[in-house]
Amino acid sequence: MLDLTSISVVDNHCHPVLREQQMDALSFRGYFTEATDPSFPEKHIPNTVYYLWLLHQMATFYGCQNIEEDILFVRNNLDADTLIEHLFRAANIDTLVLDPAYPLPDDCYSPARMGQLGHCRAAKMLRLETLMQRLILEYDDFDEVVDRYSMEVSTAREHGYCSLKSIVAYRTGLNIAEWSKDAAAASFDEVRDMAIRSGKLRITHKPLIDYLLHIAFRLASEQELPLQFHTGYGDSDTDMRLGNPLQLREVLERSDYHSMPIVLLHESYPYTQLGAYLAAIYPHVYFDLSYTIPFVDRLEMLAFTRQALGVAPASKLLYSSDGINVPEMHWAGALRSRSIIGQVLSEMIDADEIDEEQAYYIAQLVLRDTAYAVYKL
Ligand SMILES: [Zn+2]
Repeated sequence: MLDLTSISVVDNHCHPVLREQQMDALSFRGYFTEATDPSFPEKHIPNTVYYLWLLHQMATFYGCQNIEEDILFVRNNLDADTLIEHLFRAANIDTLVLDPAYPLPDDCYSPARMGQLGHCRAAKMLRLETLMQRLILEYDDFDEVVDRYSMEVSTAREHGYCSLKSIVAYRTGLNIAEWSKDAAAASFDEVRDMAIRSGKLRITHKPLIDYLLHIAFRLASEQELPLQFHTGYGDSDTDMRLGNPLQLREVLERSDYHSMPIVLLHESYPYTQLGAYLAAIYPHVYFDLSYTIPFVDRLEMLAFTRQALGVAPASKLLYSSDGINVPEMHWAGALRSRSIIGQVLSEMIDADEIDEEQAYYIAQLVLRDTAYAVYKL
């Protein structure tokens, strides 16, 4: 099988890890499911194939028996800095591209500190919905919100962001429409009222979100700044019907947005063939292959990797872990991706589609070099 262990990875989409890494089995398992019902960590996660694989890898790494209790005992005895440093170094990471909006920054390692511990570069992205929520709470005038928002998006690069990110798929769906300013302003008044009354805010108002997103698309296109869209599988609050990347058609068709590279996250699982197809058709669409989340086993990862490499150019594909909360995720994603991409490319060599040199070049593109080009690292 093609050996890709020497290729360092750009993890083009991941999150910070928690500062508190001491945890019991239920909390640890809880990070390996998108389900919110407590029956999952209690009863079902220990019977899930990807989790059993992870425990096996951890036992080998920590040099203990493959028993969950023993594994967690060994990891809990390491201080968090050491844990992260060991795992990240073993993962051979070139760059982490972090979404620092979640989990809440106060509970987490900063991107800079994660880079130090991983002996790698740490870049970050700006999550648009978080910015919207902050400004809506801060200002009571819609024009003021629009002005401040436009200013933050148009100076994103100067403030150290290499990409924008949108989770609109979680909120109102990828079928982003064009709304009049009046419709957006009316929506703003409702949202602002609700926020003042309840003291907190989670915007789910389509005219407002869509209107502000279109402003960001225009400003990102002017700066050739990439935008990552969450697509497909995700938190339990996502309506998967609206997470289908085909819902983005109107945005993708806008030729004035073609200078904004669009990255479809998480292989749009389970819409992988559709997302990879979009990357094969639109010049500015790229396709992320993430190898820790969605939580699926090796056979499913082989399937989506074959589907993506089967239709899209490797110069349109990028690796990520989507690691979050615990550093084992970022580490496991790097191990998994090299092994799975290596196996799929070996199959392609055996099938006489490509030769070994071409396969190695393709692996370098997916694991590292496409991300360098997209994010101008
Ligand atoms: Zn994510």
